[in-house]
Amino acid sequence: MNNYDNSGKITFDAIVIGAGLAGSAAAMIMAREGLNVALIERGNKPGAKNYFGGAIYTHAIEEVLPGFMDLKPPFERPVTEAGFWFLSKDGMMRASVQGGKLEKEPYDAYVTLRAAFDPWWAEQAQAAGAFLIPKTTVIDFIRDDDGHGQVIGVVTDRPQGEIYAPVVIICEGVNNLLTQKLELIGRDLEPAHTALAFKQVISLSPQLVNSRFGLPDNSHGLAVSVVGDVSLGLPGMGFVYTNKGSVSVGLGVMLDVLAEYRLKPYEILERYLKHPAIAPLVEGGQLLEYGAHLIPEGGWRDMPDVYTGGVMVAGDAASMVNALHWEGTNMAMIAGKLAAETAIEAHSRGDFSAKTLSRYEDRLRERFILQDLRQYRNFSKFLEQHPEFMEVYPAFLNDALGGFFSAYGKPKRQLFQEILGALTDRRGIFKAAGDIVSMGRAVMGW
Ligand SMILES: Cc1cc2nc3c(=O)[nH]c(=O)nc-3n(C[C@H](O)[C@H](O)[C@H](O)COP(=O)(O)OP(=O)(O)OC[C@H]3O[C@@H](n4cnc5c(N)ncnc54)[C@H](O)[C@@H]3O)c2cc1C
Repeated sequence: MNNYDNSGKITFDAIVIGAGLAGSAAAMIMAREGLNVALIERGNKPGAKNYFGGAIYTHAIEEVLPGFMDLKPPFERPVTEAGFWFLSKDGMMRASVQGGKLEKEPYDAYVTLRAAFDPWWAEQAQAAGAFLIPKTTVIDFIRDDDGHGQVIGVVTDRPQGEIYAPVVIICEGVNNLLTQKLELIGRDLEPAHTALAFKQVISLSPQLVNSRFGLPDNSHGLAVSVVGDVSLGLPGMGFVYTNKGSVSVGLGVMLDVLAEYRLKPYEILERYLKHPAIAPLVEGGQLLEYGAHLIPEGGWRDMPDVYTGGVMVAGDAASMVNALHWEGTNMAMIAGKLAAETAIEAHSRGDFSAKTLSRYEDRLRERFILQDLRQYRNFSKFLEQHPEFMEVYPAFLNDALGGFFSAYGKPKRQLFQEILGALTDRRGIFKAAGDIVSMGRAVMGW
């Protein structure tokens, strides 16, 4: 492939910045349509810089790469049990669902490790014809000097590292320095809307994973969010995912809270791992991996403009994360696809202006991405304003159910009064009712 134009410039039909989930999806779709695509990744290889919980959703992979299961993606286990665990200081209430819909193929989600998935995902983009350029960081943009300043390429950290293309898709992830550089958003990440998530991958034999988590065999897996005595009652949420022969355990806490309370992430994680309900699950396991990554939890509130002349932005770089549902991977992949379709359309028209690329935002609006982000636009603010959901209610649920399922030889009327008392002592009936209504409003977007 010769990418030099007549004037000796390196030129592609499209440039994608970042070979993560959004980037490789965008590159795959464009290359499949015959565009000459450069996929630029700063890591030594795709996945080298990427870290998540986590579970990845098959509906998004299938939409980008139909029939992907035949290509043997490097998944850990299907998610056949999902839900919430509510931790009190010394106990746990589980609200999870298993089997049923979750157990029917095609599975909705798979627990995955990014170090394995991302290289495979980028290989699919390469197989479609995209040209992967690893170990290369995009540091700036080249703009047309026709007065409009339309982006016509990128500057990389390589010597003579300018690469030209009429359309650039930014998929740089949460640390969206390039998006800021183009002034698509007028500020840096908001510490109050950005979580630092840290996790350990702890090795256990597959048999131990199965027996400790109640999974019948290796083709069953668990993905749960953990709330309560995880984050010291501060806005944050934990998670547990079962891999084939290991467990991923971690939590995310807002950056402003970490700074304000001078909390050390590894100390909070250590504390969480020693919780009486968590410790037996990982006992005897060996630490395989320890890492941290940011999550843009502001969603709708922190979205940049997602297009301008010659440029579109997809995935975490555009704050496309639904934190309550741990959905970011699917939004990234589908946004990458929609940006790619818009770039293909722009090529067919020979017009890469902001007006043509505005179709990308229309496409996002027609899908769950903008619809969900808009609906959940107040959710992170709701959590900031209602810390009781992080401590008071999980502890109450443990006490209430613990009481309900105990005999004690007391009349049941007294038992119910005690359960009610456990709530009124902590929060009060009217306040609790108000909290539930506020949560409903935050989730429904009213
Ligand atoms: C702890 C944790 C748990 C999570 N759990 C889940 C989950 O269970 N389910 C879910 O759906 N989502 C989850 N998420 C969110 C999900 O991981 C992200 O939403 C998703 O990875 C976003 O994909 P992306 O392609 O936008 O960005 P990324 O996957 O971060 O990819 C960005 C890529 O761009 C590269 N890059 C950045 N800057 C440059 C540059 N200047 N030049 C070249 N390359 C560059 C990076 O190296 C990287 O490869 C979790 C996140 C975290 C941190």
